[in-house]
Amino acid sequence: MVGLATRYLNGLRRRDFVEGAALIDGGWIASSQRDVVVDPATGDEIADVARCSAADMALAIAAAERSFAAWRQLLPAKRGAILRSWASLLLDHSEELAILVTSEQGKPLAEARYEIVYAAGFLDWFAAEGERAYGETIPSHKAGSLLQVRMQPIGVAAAITPWNFPVAMITRKAGAALAAGCPIIVKPAPETPLSALAVARLATEAGVPPGVLQVLVGDPIELSAPLLRDTRIRALSFTGSAQVGRLLLGAAAQTVKKVSLELGGHAPFLVFDDVDLNKTVTGAIAAKFATSGQDCLAANRIYVQRGIYCAFVEAFAAAMNKLKVGHGLDPATDIGPMTKLSVANKCRMQIDDAVTKGARVISTKQDEKLASTFVFPTLLSDVTEDMLIAREETFGPVVAVLPFDSEDEVIARANANEMGLAGYVYTDSLRRALRLSEQLECGMVGVNTASFTGPPIPFGGWKQSGLGREGSRHGLAEYTELKYVCFGDVTG
Ligand code: NAD
Repeated sequence: MVGLATRYLNGLRRRDFVEGAALIDGGWIASSQRDVVVDPATGDEIADVARCSAADMALAIAAAERSFAAWRQLLPAKRGAILRSWASLLLDHSEELAILVTSEQGKPLAEARYEIVYAAGFLDWFAAEGERAYGETIPSHKAGSLLQVRMQPIGVAAAITPWNFPVAMITRKAGAALAAGCPIIVKPAPETPLSALAVARLATEAGVPPGVLQVLVGDPIELSAPLLRDTRIRALSFTGSAQVGRLLLGAAAQTVKKVSLELGGHAPFLVFDDVDLNKTVTGAIAAKFATSGQDCLAANRIYVQRGIYCAFVEAFAAAMNKLKVGHGLDPATDIGPMTKLSVANKCRMQIDDAVTKGARVISTKQDEKLASTFVFPTLLSDVTEDMLIAREETFGPVVAVLPFDSEDEVIARANANEMGLAGYVYTDSLRRALRLSEQLECGMVGVNTASFTGPPIPFGGWKQSGLGREGSRHGLAEYTELKYVCFGDVTG
Protein backbone atom coordinates (compact mmCIF):
# COMPACT_ATOMS: atom_id res chain seq x y z
CA MET A 1 0.00 0.00 0.00
CA VAL A 2 1.31 3.47 -0.89
CA GLY A 3 2.08 5.49 2.23
CA LEU A 4 0.63 8.90 3.06
CA ALA A 5 3.82 10.84 2.30
CA THR A 6 4.30 9.10 -1.06
CA ARG A 7 0.71 9.91 -2.03
CA TYR A 8 1.27 13.59 -1.24
CA LEU A 9 4.64 13.63 -3.04
CA ASN A 10 3.12 11.94 -6.10
CA GLY A 11 0.61 14.78 -6.23
CA LEU A 12 3.22 17.56 -6.40
CA ARG A 13 2.99 19.81 -9.46
CA ARG A 14 6.75 20.26 -9.38
CA ARG A 15 8.05 16.77 -10.14
CA ASP A 16 11.59 18.17 -10.23
CA PHE A 17 11.33 18.82 -6.47
CA VAL A 18 11.71 15.07 -5.87
CA GLU A 19 14.34 14.31 -8.51
CA GLY A 20 17.07 14.47 -5.89
CA ALA A 21 19.82 15.98 -8.05
CA ALA A 22 22.52 18.12 -6.41
CA LEU A 23 23.19 21.70 -7.51
CA ILE A 24 26.83 22.28 -8.50
CA ASP A 25 27.96 25.29 -10.54
CA GLY A 26 24.44 25.92 -11.84
CA GLY A 27 23.97 22.33 -13.06
CA TRP A 28 21.85 19.50 -11.66
CA ILE A 29 24.02 16.49 -10.92
CA ALA A 30 22.27 13.11 -10.68
CA SER A 31 25.00 10.86 -9.30
CA SER A 32 24.73 7.10 -9.81
CA GLN A 33 25.36 6.81 -6.06
CA ARG A 34 22.03 7.42 -4.35
CA ASP A 35 20.85 7.73 -0.73
CA VAL A 36 17.27 7.00 0.28
CA VAL A 37 15.03 9.47 2.07
CA VAL A 38 12.51 8.02 4.52
CA ASP A 39 9.28 9.23 6.03
CA PRO A 40 10.17 9.24 9.76
CA ALA A 41 6.55 8.52 10.70
CA THR A 42 6.47 5.18 8.87
CA GLY A 43 9.99 4.29 7.78
CA ASP A 44 8.71 4.20 4.15
CA GLU A 45 11.27 5.09 1.48
CA ILE A 46 9.85 8.16 -0.21
CA ALA A 47 12.63 9.26 -2.59
CA ASP A 48 16.31 8.95 -3.32
CA VAL A 49 18.90 11.66 -3.80
CA ALA A 50 22.32 11.99 -5.40
CA ARG A 51 25.12 11.12 -2.99
CA CYS A 52 27.84 13.68 -3.70
CA SER A 53 31.51 12.85 -3.19
CA ALA A 54 34.55 14.77 -1.98
CA ALA A 55 35.45 15.25 -5.67
CA ASP A 56 32.05 16.90 -6.27
CA MET A 57 32.74 19.17 -3.32
CA ALA A 58 36.09 20.17 -4.82
CA LEU A 59 34.27 21.18 -8.01
CA ALA A 60 31.77 23.18 -5.97
CA ILE A 61 34.50 25.04 -4.07
CA ALA A 62 36.22 25.98 -7.33
CA ALA A 63 32.91 27.13 -8.85
CA ALA A 64 32.10 29.21 -5.78
CA GLU A 65 35.51 30.87 -5.93
CA ARG A 66 35.00 31.69 -9.63
CA SER A 67 31.59 33.22 -8.94
CA PHE A 68 32.80 35.45 -6.12
CA ALA A 69 34.22 38.41 -8.07
CA ALA A 70 31.10 39.06 -10.13
CA TRP A 71 28.70 38.47 -7.23
CA ARG A 72 30.47 40.84 -4.86
CA GLN A 73 30.59 43.54 -7.55
CA LEU A 74 26.86 43.38 -8.21
CA LEU A 75 25.17 46.38 -6.62
CA PRO A 76 23.63 45.47 -3.25
CA ALA A 77 20.23 46.51 -4.59
CA LYS A 78 20.57 44.01 -7.45
CA ARG A 79 21.58 41.23 -5.06
CA GLY A 80 18.64 42.27 -2.90
CA ALA A 81 16.25 42.04 -5.85
CA ILE A 82 17.37 38.45 -6.49
CA LEU A 83 16.90 37.57 -2.81
CA ARG A 84 13.41 39.11 -2.83
CA SER A 85 12.51 37.17 -5.92
CA TRP A 86 13.76 33.97 -4.23
CA ALA A 87 11.58 34.80 -1.19
CA SER A 88 8.52 35.27 -3.44
CA LEU A 89 9.14 31.93 -5.14
CA LEU A 90 9.33 30.25 -1.73
CA LEU A 91 5.96 31.73 -0.84
CA ASP A 92 4.47 30.85 -4.25
CA HIS A 93 5.52 27.23 -3.67
CA SER A 94 4.87 27.18 0.05
CA GLU A 95 2.37 24.32 -0.02
CA GLU A 96 4.66 22.04 -2.02
CA LEU A 97 7.67 22.92 0.11
CA ALA A 98 5.66 22.32 3.27
CA ILE A 99 4.69 18.85 2.00
CA LEU A 100 8.35 18.06 1.36
CA VAL A 101 9.32 19.25 4.86
CA THR A 102 6.60 17.22 6.59
CA SER A 103 7.29 14.13 4.48
CA GLU A 104 10.99 13.97 5.32
CA GLN A 105 11.17 15.80 8.66
CA GLY A 106 7.87 14.75 10.21
CA LYS A 107 6.59 18.04 11.68
CA PRO A 108 2.85 18.82 11.42
CA LEU A 109 1.96 20.41 8.08
CA ALA A 110 0.77 23.65 9.71
CA GLU A 111 4.21 24.07 11.29
CA ALA A 112 5.91 23.25 7.98
CA ARG A 113 3.82 25.94 6.27
CA TYR A 114 4.89 28.38 8.97
CA GLU A 115 8.53 27.40 8.43
CA ILE A 116 8.34 28.40 4.75
CA VAL A 117 7.01 31.86 5.65
CA TYR A 118 9.68 32.18 8.37
CA ALA A 119 12.35 31.07 5.86
CA ALA A 120 11.24 33.54 3.19
CA GLY A 121 11.36 36.31 5.82
CA PHE A 122 15.15 35.92 6.17
CA LEU A 123 15.66 36.45 2.45
CA ASP A 124 13.56 39.62 2.49
CA TRP A 125 15.30 40.87 5.62
CA PHE A 126 18.81 40.37 4.29
CA ALA A 127 17.85 41.78 0.87
CA ALA A 128 17.47 45.10 2.66
CA GLU A 129 20.23 44.58 5.20
CA GLY A 130 22.81 44.10 2.42
CA GLU A 131 22.10 47.67 1.33
CA ARG A 132 22.75 48.90 4.87
CA ALA A 133 26.29 47.52 5.31
CA TYR A 134 27.35 51.09 5.98
CA GLY A 135 30.72 50.89 7.69
CA GLU A 136 31.92 53.87 9.74
CA THR A 137 33.83 57.11 9.57
CA ILE A 138 35.92 57.60 12.71
CA PRO A 139 36.83 61.05 14.06
CA SER A 140 40.55 61.01 13.45
CA HIS A 141 43.25 60.81 16.11
CA LYS A 142 45.84 61.79 13.43
CA ALA A 143 46.04 65.39 12.28
CA GLY A 144 44.97 65.83 8.65
CA SER A 145 43.81 62.26 8.08
CA LEU A 146 40.49 60.57 7.37
CA LEU A 147 39.61 57.22 8.92
CA GLN A 148 37.15 54.78 7.39
CA VAL A 149 35.92 51.32 8.31
CA ARG A 150 34.38 49.28 5.51
CA MET A 151 32.41 46.03 5.64
CA GLN A 152 33.61 43.81 2.84
CA PRO A 153 32.44 40.29 1.87
CA ILE A 154 34.60 37.67 3.52
CA GLY A 155 34.74 35.26 0.57
CA VAL A 156 33.27 31.82 -0.04
CA ALA A 157 31.14 30.55 2.85
CA ALA A 158 29.97 27.06 3.79
CA ALA A 159 26.84 26.07 5.71
CA ILE A 160 26.17 22.75 7.42
CA THR A 161 22.48 22.69 8.28
CA PRO A 162 20.24 20.56 10.51
CA TRP A 163 17.06 18.58 9.93
CA ASN A 164 14.75 20.31 12.40
CA PHE A 165 14.28 23.49 10.28
CA PRO A 166 15.51 22.17 6.93
CA VAL A 167 14.42 25.25 4.93
CA ALA A 168 14.74 28.15 7.37
CA MET A 169 18.25 27.22 8.50
CA ILE A 170 19.35 27.42 4.86
CA THR A 171 17.77 30.80 4.14
CA ARG A 172 18.96 32.28 7.47
CA LYS A 173 22.55 31.48 6.49
CA ALA A 174 22.39 31.83 2.69
CA GLY A 175 20.33 35.05 2.85
CA ALA A 176 23.02 36.72 4.95
CA ALA A 177 25.93 35.36 2.90
CA LEU A 178 24.45 36.32 -0.46
CA ALA A 179 23.41 39.77 0.74
CA ALA A 180 26.95 40.39 2.00
CA GLY A 181 28.33 39.45 -1.43
CA CYS A 182 29.56 35.94 -0.58
CA PRO A 183 28.85 32.69 -2.46
CA ILE A 184 27.78 29.84 -0.19
CA ILE A 185 27.93 26.05 -0.37
CA VAL A 186 25.25 24.27 1.65
CA LYS A 187 25.50 20.75 3.02
CA PRO A 188 22.05 19.90 4.37
CA ALA A 189 21.32 17.10 6.83
CA PRO A 190 21.05 13.71 5.08
CA GLU A 191 17.60 13.21 6.65
CA THR A 192 16.09 16.27 4.92
CA PRO A 193 17.66 16.78 1.49
CA LEU A 194 14.47 17.15 -0.59
CA SER A 195 13.36 20.49 0.78
CA ALA A 196 16.95 21.81 0.61
CA LEU A 197 17.26 20.86 -3.06
CA ALA A 198 13.82 22.32 -3.87
CA VAL A 199 14.82 25.60 -2.24
CA ALA A 200 18.00 25.56 -4.35
CA ARG A 201 15.91 25.08 -7.53
CA LEU A 202 13.89 28.14 -6.62
CA ALA A 203 17.11 30.11 -6.03
CA THR A 204 18.28 29.40 -9.58
CA GLU A 205 14.84 30.41 -10.90
CA ALA A 206 15.12 33.66 -8.94
CA GLY A 207 18.36 34.46 -10.76
CA VAL A 208 21.06 33.36 -8.29
CA PRO A 209 24.01 32.84 -10.68
CA PRO A 210 25.91 29.54 -11.08
CA GLY A 211 28.33 28.88 -8.22
CA VAL A 212 26.80 31.49 -5.90
CA LEU A 213 24.52 28.98 -4.14
CA GLN A 214 25.30 25.27 -4.34
CA VAL A 215 23.72 22.39 -2.45
CA LEU A 216 25.46 19.03 -2.07
CA VAL A 217 24.00 16.08 -0.21
CA GLY A 218 25.99 13.10 1.03
CA ASP A 219 28.08 11.72 3.83
CA PRO A 220 28.66 14.53 6.38
CA ILE A 221 32.30 13.67 7.08
CA GLU A 222 33.27 13.12 3.44
CA LEU A 223 31.65 16.39 2.35
CA SER A 224 32.74 18.56 5.25
CA ALA A 225 36.41 17.51 5.13
CA PRO A 226 37.21 19.43 1.91
CA LEU A 227 35.25 22.44 3.16
CA LEU A 228 37.22 22.51 6.42
CA ARG A 229 40.59 21.98 4.77
CA ASP A 230 40.28 24.47 1.96
CA THR A 231 41.69 27.94 2.54
CA ARG A 232 39.26 29.36 -0.04
CA ILE A 233 36.39 28.70 2.41
CA ARG A 234 36.61 31.76 4.64
CA ALA A 235 33.47 31.35 6.76
CA LEU A 236 31.64 28.35 8.16
CA SER A 237 28.17 28.41 9.68
CA PHE A 238 26.82 25.36 11.47
CA THR A 239 23.58 24.50 13.26
CA GLY A 240 23.36 21.19 15.06
CA SER A 241 24.69 19.33 18.06
CA ALA A 242 27.34 20.73 20.41
CA GLN A 243 29.38 17.60 19.86
CA VAL A 244 29.70 18.13 16.10
CA GLY A 245 30.05 21.90 16.58
CA ARG A 246 33.16 21.39 18.71
CA LEU A 247 34.66 19.07 16.07
CA LEU A 248 34.04 21.61 13.31
CA LEU A 249 35.42 24.50 15.36
CA GLY A 250 38.60 22.53 16.03
CA ALA A 251 39.02 21.56 12.37
CA ALA A 252 38.28 25.09 11.13
CA ALA A 253 41.02 26.42 13.40
CA GLN A 254 43.62 24.92 11.04
CA THR A 255 42.72 27.46 8.36
CA VAL A 256 41.45 30.13 10.80
CA LYS A 257 37.97 30.40 9.33
CA LYS A 258 35.33 32.71 10.71
CA VAL A 259 32.99 30.24 12.43
CA SER A 260 29.44 30.74 13.60
CA LEU A 261 27.78 27.97 15.56
CA GLU A 262 24.24 27.42 16.80
CA LEU A 263 24.48 24.37 19.03
CA GLY A 264 21.17 24.05 20.78
CA GLY A 265 20.15 24.85 24.30
CA HIS A 266 18.60 23.61 27.48
CA ALA A 267 16.22 26.47 28.11
CA PRO A 268 15.03 27.18 31.65
CA PHE A 269 11.43 28.40 31.87
CA LEU A 270 10.85 30.25 35.15
CA VAL A 271 7.30 30.53 36.49
CA PHE A 272 6.63 32.76 39.54
CA ASP A 273 3.56 32.51 41.71
CA ASP A 274 2.15 35.89 40.62
CA VAL A 275 1.37 34.75 37.06
CA ASP A 276 -1.89 34.20 35.21
CA LEU A 277 -1.84 30.39 35.24
CA ASN A 278 -3.78 29.81 32.01
CA LYS A 279 -1.64 32.19 29.95
CA THR A 280 1.53 30.71 31.42
CA VAL A 281 0.51 27.13 30.66
CA THR A 282 -0.34 28.15 27.08
CA GLY A 283 3.13 29.70 26.78
CA ALA A 284 4.84 26.69 28.32
CA ILE A 285 3.03 24.24 26.02
CA ALA A 286 4.10 26.31 22.98
CA ALA A 287 7.66 26.66 24.26
CA LYS A 288 7.96 22.91 24.83
CA PHE A 289 6.04 21.23 22.03
CA ALA A 290 6.74 23.33 18.92
CA THR A 291 8.49 21.22 16.26
CA SER A 292 7.41 18.20 18.37
CA GLY A 293 10.01 19.31 20.92
CA GLN A 294 12.86 19.14 18.37
CA ASP A 295 13.62 22.81 18.76
CA CYS A 296 16.73 24.40 20.19
CA LEU A 297 14.53 27.00 21.94
CA ALA A 298 12.44 24.29 23.62
CA ALA A 299 11.70 24.82 27.30
CA ASN A 300 13.47 21.82 28.75
CA ARG A 301 13.40 22.71 32.45
CA ILE A 302 10.26 24.34 33.79
CA TYR A 303 10.97 25.78 37.26
CA VAL A 304 7.73 26.58 39.09
CA GLN A 305 7.50 28.48 42.38
CA ARG A 306 6.21 26.20 45.10
CA GLY A 307 2.99 28.15 45.79
CA ILE A 308 1.54 27.28 42.37
CA TYR A 309 3.54 24.14 41.64
CA CYS A 310 0.71 21.61 42.01
CA ALA A 311 -1.79 23.78 40.14
CA PHE A 312 0.71 24.30 37.32
CA VAL A 313 1.48 20.58 36.95
CA GLU A 314 -2.23 19.77 36.85
CA ALA A 315 -3.05 22.48 34.28
CA PHE A 316 -0.02 21.66 32.13
CA ALA A 317 -0.89 17.94 32.12
CA ALA A 318 -4.49 18.73 31.13
CA ALA A 319 -3.33 20.90 28.20
CA MET A 320 -0.69 18.34 27.18
CA ASN A 321 -3.31 15.57 27.13
CA LYS A 322 -5.14 17.40 24.34
CA LEU A 323 -2.13 17.19 21.99
CA LYS A 324 -2.73 14.68 19.21
CA VAL A 325 0.21 12.52 18.16
CA GLY A 326 0.28 11.23 14.58
CA HIS A 327 1.50 11.62 11.03
CA GLY A 328 2.38 15.22 10.23
CA LEU A 329 0.28 15.10 7.06
CA ASP A 330 -2.84 14.32 9.12
CA PRO A 331 -4.40 17.77 9.76
CA ALA A 332 -5.36 16.77 13.33
CA THR A 333 -1.74 16.15 14.36
CA ASP A 334 0.03 18.37 16.90
CA ILE A 335 3.07 16.16 17.54
CA GLY A 336 4.80 14.25 14.75
CA PRO A 337 7.55 11.63 14.90
CA MET A 338 11.12 12.36 15.88
CA THR A 339 13.08 12.81 12.66
CA LYS A 340 15.76 10.41 13.90
CA LEU A 341 15.27 7.27 15.94
CA SER A 342 18.30 8.28 18.03
CA VAL A 343 16.41 11.37 19.21
CA ALA A 344 13.39 9.26 20.24
CA ASN A 345 15.70 6.86 22.07
CA LYS A 346 17.35 9.74 23.93
CA CYS A 347 13.89 10.86 25.11
CA ARG A 348 13.12 7.36 26.39
CA MET A 349 16.48 7.17 28.12
CA GLN A 350 15.86 10.48 29.92
CA ILE A 351 12.40 9.32 31.01
CA ASP A 352 13.76 6.01 32.37
CA ASP A 353 16.59 7.77 34.17
CA ALA A 354 14.24 10.30 35.79
CA VAL A 355 11.73 7.67 36.86
CA THR A 356 14.49 5.51 38.36
CA LYS A 357 15.63 8.52 40.39
CA GLY A 358 12.15 9.29 41.69
CA ALA A 359 10.37 11.59 39.19
CA ARG A 360 6.63 11.25 38.74
CA VAL A 361 5.58 10.65 35.13
CA ILE A 362 2.45 11.75 33.30
CA SER A 363 2.29 10.49 29.71
CA THR A 364 -0.29 10.74 26.95
CA LYS A 365 -0.09 7.33 25.31
CA GLN A 366 -2.65 7.25 22.53
CA ASP A 367 -1.86 4.81 19.74
CA GLU A 368 0.36 1.79 20.35
CA LYS A 369 0.67 1.09 16.60
CA LEU A 370 2.80 4.13 15.86
CA ALA A 371 6.45 3.60 14.85
CA SER A 372 9.26 3.73 17.39
CA THR A 373 10.23 7.21 16.15
CA PHE A 374 7.17 8.54 18.02
CA VAL A 375 7.45 9.82 21.57
CA PHE A 376 4.25 10.65 23.38
CA PRO A 377 4.18 13.99 25.19
CA THR A 378 5.47 13.29 28.66
CA LEU A 379 5.63 15.39 31.79
CA LEU A 380 8.14 14.51 34.46
CA SER A 381 7.40 16.26 37.74
CA ASP A 382 9.42 16.48 40.95
CA VAL A 383 12.54 16.40 38.83
CA THR A 384 15.82 16.95 40.66
CA GLU A 385 19.07 18.39 39.35
CA ASP A 386 20.83 15.01 39.37
CA MET A 387 18.54 13.61 36.67
CA LEU A 388 19.78 13.59 33.06
CA ILE A 389 16.81 15.64 31.85
CA ALA A 390 17.74 18.45 34.24
CA ARG A 391 21.25 18.56 32.85
CA GLU A 392 20.99 17.80 29.10
CA GLU A 393 18.91 19.03 26.18
CA THR A 394 16.12 16.56 25.35
CA PHE A 395 15.11 17.60 21.81
CA GLY A 396 11.78 15.83 22.05
CA PRO A 397 8.31 16.17 23.63
CA VAL A 398 9.40 15.39 27.19
CA VAL A 399 9.35 18.10 29.81
CA ALA A 400 10.84 18.37 33.28
CA VAL A 401 9.04 20.36 35.98
CA LEU A 402 11.00 21.35 39.08
CA PRO A 403 9.79 23.25 42.15
CA PHE A 404 11.68 26.25 43.56
CA ASP A 405 11.29 28.64 46.49
CA SER A 406 13.21 31.88 45.94
CA GLU A 407 14.36 34.06 43.06
CA ASP A 408 18.05 33.78 44.04
CA GLU A 409 17.80 30.03 44.19
CA VAL A 410 16.13 29.64 40.79
CA ILE A 411 18.48 31.96 38.93
CA ALA A 412 21.46 30.03 40.28
CA ARG A 413 19.89 26.72 39.21
CA ALA A 414 18.89 28.07 35.79
CA ASN A 415 22.42 29.29 35.12
CA ALA A 416 24.18 26.18 36.42
CA ASN A 417 24.43 24.66 32.97
CA GLU A 418 26.93 24.87 30.13
CA MET A 419 24.26 25.65 27.52
CA GLY A 420 22.92 29.19 27.20
CA LEU A 421 20.74 29.67 24.14
CA ALA A 422 17.39 30.88 25.47
CA GLY A 423 15.50 31.38 28.72
CA TYR A 424 11.93 32.28 29.64
CA VAL A 425 10.60 34.31 32.58
CA TYR A 426 6.91 34.39 33.49
CA THR A 427 6.02 36.91 36.19
CA ASP A 428 3.67 39.82 36.76
CA SER A 429 6.42 41.90 38.37
CA LEU A 430 8.21 44.28 36.03
CA ARG A 431 11.10 44.71 38.45
CA ARG A 432 11.62 40.98 38.70
CA ALA A 433 11.37 40.56 34.92
CA LEU A 434 14.06 43.23 34.44
CA ARG A 435 16.31 41.66 37.08
CA LEU A 436 16.02 38.13 35.74
CA SER A 437 16.35 39.07 32.08
CA GLU A 438 19.63 40.74 33.09
CA GLN A 439 20.86 37.77 35.15
CA LEU A 440 20.01 34.83 32.87
CA GLU A 441 23.17 33.55 31.16
CA CYS A 442 21.79 33.08 27.67
CA GLY A 443 21.59 34.82 24.31
CA MET A 444 17.79 35.28 24.17
CA VAL A 445 15.12 35.81 26.83
CA GLY A 446 11.35 35.68 26.41
CA VAL A 447 9.51 37.59 29.15
CA ASN A 448 5.90 36.42 29.40
CA THR A 449 6.09 35.10 25.85
CA ALA A 450 7.14 31.92 24.11
CA SER A 451 7.30 33.52 20.67
CA PHE A 452 10.21 35.83 19.91
CA THR A 453 12.21 34.64 16.91
CA GLY A 454 12.19 36.15 13.44
CA PRO A 455 14.46 37.88 10.94
CA PRO A 456 15.09 41.13 12.90
CA ILE A 457 16.44 39.49 16.08
CA PRO A 458 20.03 38.35 16.79
CA PHE A 459 19.58 34.59 17.19
CA GLY A 460 22.38 32.84 19.05
CA GLY A 461 23.67 31.55 22.32
CA TRP A 462 26.15 32.05 25.12
CA LYS A 463 28.54 29.51 26.59
CA GLN A 464 28.51 26.17 24.75
CA SER A 465 25.34 27.06 22.85
CA GLY A 466 27.47 28.65 20.18
CA LEU A 467 29.30 31.54 18.61
CA GLY A 468 28.04 34.44 16.52
CA ARG A 469 24.51 35.50 15.61
CA GLU A 470 22.05 34.82 12.83
CA GLY A 471 19.33 37.16 11.56
CA SER A 472 19.38 40.90 12.35
CA ARG A 473 22.19 43.21 11.28
CA HIS A 474 24.55 41.06 13.35
CA GLY A 475 23.83 38.09 11.08
CA LEU A 476 25.30 39.94 8.11
CA ALA A 477 28.53 40.54 10.04
CA GLU A 478 29.25 36.78 10.09
CA TYR A 479 29.94 37.04 6.34
CA THR A 480 31.93 40.28 6.28
CA GLU A 481 35.40 41.43 7.20
CA LEU A 482 36.08 44.90 8.54
CA LYS A 483 38.67 46.92 6.71
CA TYR A 484 40.13 50.00 8.32
CA VAL A 485 41.55 52.57 5.88
CA CYS A 486 43.55 55.63 6.93
CA PHE A 487 43.82 58.43 4.34
CA GLY A 488 46.76 60.59 5.38
CA ASP A 489 47.35 64.19 4.49
CA VAL A 490 43.84 64.93 3.19
CA THR A 491 43.90 68.60 4.15
CA GLY A 492 46.87 69.64 2.01
P1 NAD B 1 24.24 16.61 14.19
O1 NAD B 1 25.01 17.69 14.83
O2 NAD B 1 24.88 15.26 14.04
O3 NAD B 1 23.77 17.06 12.70
C1 NAD B 1 23.67 18.40 12.26
C2 NAD B 1 24.38 18.56 10.92
O4 NAD B 1 25.76 18.22 11.08
C3 NAD B 1 23.85 17.66 9.81
O5 NAD B 1 23.94 18.34 8.57
C4 NAD B 1 24.82 16.50 9.82
O6 NAD B 1 24.88 15.83 8.57
C5 NAD B 1 26.12 17.22 10.10
N1 NAD B 1 27.17 16.40 10.70
C6 NAD B 1 27.03 15.36 11.56
N2 NAD B 1 28.23 14.87 11.91
C7 NAD B 1 29.16 15.58 11.23
C8 NAD B 1 30.57 15.56 11.17
N3 NAD B 1 31.29 14.68 11.88
N4 NAD B 1 31.20 16.45 10.38
C9 NAD B 1 30.50 17.35 9.67
N5 NAD B 1 29.14 17.43 9.69
C10 NAD B 1 28.48 16.56 10.46
O7 NAD B 1 22.91 16.47 14.97
P2 NAD B 1 22.04 15.13 15.12
O8 NAD B 1 22.83 13.95 15.56
O9 NAD B 1 21.30 14.94 13.85
O10 NAD B 1 21.11 15.54 16.31
C11 NAD B 1 21.58 15.27 17.61
C12 NAD B 1 21.29 16.38 18.53
O11 NAD B 1 21.80 17.61 18.01
C13 NAD B 1 19.84 16.66 18.76
O12 NAD B 1 19.28 15.77 19.65
C14 NAD B 1 19.91 18.08 19.27
O13 NAD B 1 20.26 18.08 20.63
C15 NAD B 1 21.02 18.67 18.47
N6 NAD B 1 20.51 19.45 17.32
C16 NAD B 1 20.41 20.76 17.50
C17 NAD B 1 19.90 21.54 16.49
C18 NAD B 1 19.77 23.01 16.68
O14 NAD B 1 18.83 23.60 16.19
N7 NAD B 1 20.72 23.61 17.35
C19 NAD B 1 19.50 20.97 15.29
C20 NAD B 1 19.65 19.59 15.12
C21 NAD B 1 20.16 18.83 16.16
